Formats: sequence, C-alpha cells, structure tokens
Amino acid sequence: MRLLLVEDDKMLVEDLVPELRQAGYAVDLATDGQEALFLGETESYDLVVLDLGLPVMNGLEILRKWRAGGIKAPVLILTARDSWREKVDGLKAGADDYLTKPFYSEELLARLQALLRRSHDRVATQLHAEGMLLDEEHQQILLDDGSSLPLTGTEFRLLRYFMMNPGKPLSKTRLTEHVYEQDFDRDSNLIEVYVRRLREKIGNSRIETRRGQGYVFKG
Ligand code: CA
Repeated sequence: MRLLLVEDDKMLVEDLVPELRQAGYAVDLATDGQEALFLGETESYDLVVLDLGLPVMNGLEILRKWRAGGIKAPVLILTARDSWREKVDGLKAGADDYLTKPFYSEELLARLQALLRRSHDRVATQLHAEGMLLDEEHQQILLDDGSSLPLTGTEFRLLRYFMMNPGKPLSKTRLTEHVYEQDFDRDSNLIEVYVRRLREKIGNSRIETRRGQGYVFKG
C-alpha cells in the first residue's frame, strides 16, 4: 500500500515515516502544499495523511482541489487540538477521518487500517484466502495447519495488495505503483521476481498470470 504523508513538522516526520514503513506502507513525503497537491494529482496513493497547516497552500485547499479533480484516495486529516471547526471543515472538504494532534501512532495506524478496509469494501478485519491468513501486524502468512511463513517488506506489501484486490487483473505497472515509493527506481520487472518468490511461498496456483493483463490473485 502506498501512502502520501503531508506534514511540515520535521520532528513528527522523523518519528512517523519509520513507523509507517515498519507497518508496511511505501511512504512518500510532501512538506509543503504545492508538492502535496502535485503528488496527489500525479501518483496513485492508497491512503493520504494530510496536515492542515502547511506552507504555500493549506491542507483544506489541497483536499478541495483533489476532490474537485476526482481524486478518491482516502484522506485522514491531522487537526489542531480543540479545533472542532477544523474537523468539520475538513470532513466537508472531503476528508474520510481525522486525528487530533498530539496523537499516538498506534491510533493513527489503526485508523489507516480501518480506512483501507472501507475503501476496499472489506468487513473482515483480517485478510483471508483459502487455507491462509495474512498476519498484518507481524507481516507473515499464517497457514491453516498452524505454521507461519515470514515475509520480507516488499513481499508483504505485494501480497497485501493482491489480497485486497482478489480476482482482479493487476498489471505490473499498477503493482509497481502501489508497492514502491516514488524515489525508488521502479523497474516493473522486479515485480516478476517478487511474484515468483511469493509463489514459492504460497503455491503457484494462487497467483495466475494473464497474458497482456498481469496477475490475478485467487481469493
Ligand atoms: Ca503544520
């Protein structure tokens, strides 16, 4: 899952980026409004965490422009404490959730998980496929026989994206966009390598290759 963090507070960014990466997100950072607006319009994000008070352009203005432009990514806004007005304005501008500063990162991560579930029409809190479960907290696969298979960071991000989109053909380009960060040298051939590794772990039949379309995960 690819996440855009829009935040100009350096201290907060230093704490938050490693925690978000640890939690399995590919994280892009924007520290001013203009950069945020541009990234949101040009890249495909699964989630956005948006601070409202930003240099150049404030978060509400950015959010209104994104929504007017048809950008649907779920957005969680970070608001100042005791500012009920900011929350109302943010939700009206198209935010999906909000969190008041200061906050615990556990709460942010739990809210982001909930937003992802909702944006993929999921009710279950865990990602299942036949005979297996993705343990998102520990980034491993749990099999029905009780055994577990560890995943590397990239394997985890890729498998999570597959399991969130079962039955849909996913092109290598799309997978690359949702699994890697912006600065990463995005060679879509790498996806083939990681698909091969996942197949070795979970079995060839779970990920089907469709000529000209990409891959389909069998839920
Ligand atoms: Ca700020």
